[in-house]
Amino acid sequence: MTGRTHDLAAFTALSIIAITQPLPTMTLGTVIFAVGANLVGGIAPDIDEPTAPFWRNLPPGRIIGRVFDKAIGGHRFISHSLIGLAIFGGLWYLLLRFLQPSMPSININIVWWAFMIGVISHLVTDTFTKEGVPWLLPIPYKFGFPPLRAFRITAGGVIENLIIFPGLLIFTGYLYYTHYARFLELFHHS
Ligand SMILES: [Zn+2]
Repeated sequence: MTGRTHDLAAFTALSIIAITQPLPTMTLGTVIFAVGANLVGGIAPDIDEPTAPFWRNLPPGRIIGRVFDKAIGGHRFISHSLIGLAIFGGLWYLLLRFLQPSMPSININIVWWAFMIGVISHLVTDTFTKEGVPWLLPIPYKFGFPPLRAFRITAGGVIENLIIFPGLLIFTGYLYYTHYARFLELFHHS
């Protein structure tokens, strides 16, 4: 999947959670930080892909990306698994705890979840692609849905770009349209 599809899927997932879960009052800073963290989480698992947007946007990124790729085992390896999810969660928690004193008005609990929702949505959407996702590493099996590879989509292909991306966009727009009051209430709280 392309970075933009992953980011949109992450944002859609975050929006669904915002509608369905009881949320505490939060500052505008928390809302902005949470959305940013969600978008980064949405592409974070592709750090094991040297051509990913994650690396492409850094000047020495291609080289670092390639070295990193060798070190962690190639495309869709540890960062595309439950172990990777736990590592992301642990490191992100430590970083937020470290930053908390310098940003006392930010609810780091919300920001932590927003990032993790992004990461989880990435693994779920990659599961629908032909390549599959090695959820249970070190068991070296790549799971996909539907189980029959032929029915899964090609990452970055026509179906993703012409059906899934526009479909998600319309769906998310529809969510905001139908739950306008709910989102307004969230911002009101901020
Ligand atoms: Zn991926």
